[in-house]
Amino acid sequence: MRTIEEQGHVFEEWLTPAEIARDVESVAQQISSDYADKEPLFVVVLNGAFVFAADLMRRVNTRCEVTFIRVSSYWGMATTGKLEFIVPLQQVVEGRDVIIVEDIVDTGLTIHQLKAYLRAEGAHSIRVATMLFKPCKLEYSDAKPDYIGHEISEEFVIGYGLDFDGFMRNLDAIYKVKEQK
Ligand code: 5GP
Repeated sequence: MRTIEEQGHVFEEWLTPAEIARDVESVAQQISSDYADKEPLFVVVLNGAFVFAADLMRRVNTRCEVTFIRVSSYWGMATTGKLEFIVPLQQVVEGRDVIIVEDIVDTGLTIHQLKAYLRAEGAHSIRVATMLFKPCKLEYSDAKPDYIGHEISEEFVIGYGLDFDGFMRNLDAIYKVKEQK
């Protein structure tokens, strides 16, 4: 099992690239089938979701569009509970079937606020696709994802787009924090 050390923490490989690919394929198949007669707009939440989104979009065979949004609510391992729009939405969502693409849904605050925003902008429907979901941490019931790659307990994870203070997004697998040195 691969391990990696970053800022005094040891992380060990939890989902291999092959396991991730299977999860992505399963989410893509569900979306392709549910949106077969629609033209969904993927709204990718930067920065973390860019890796998952790139893989997911290439496995979805529905006619679709993609746009990006950037919000910030995390610093290191702790949440501040505040959502900031850093890159605003640049596409009209009125009347569109929107699929928000996230790397991980934790408390659900990001999705809760994004959904309210997209609803106010007139989206016809809003669903959420996420690589990872921490059900035990969910605080906003409307943020429960519709498409989930993998469920996880409350551990902190990095890799496959997920960062540790900006680094480690380039890891090809997902690593779980193991211990503090
Ligand atoms: P939420 O708003 O659902 O509480 O948090 C969602 C965001 O928190 C994610 O997009 C991600 O940026 C960050 N986050 C939550 N849990 C983790 C984690 O285990 N690892 C990393 N790297 N980021 C996390």
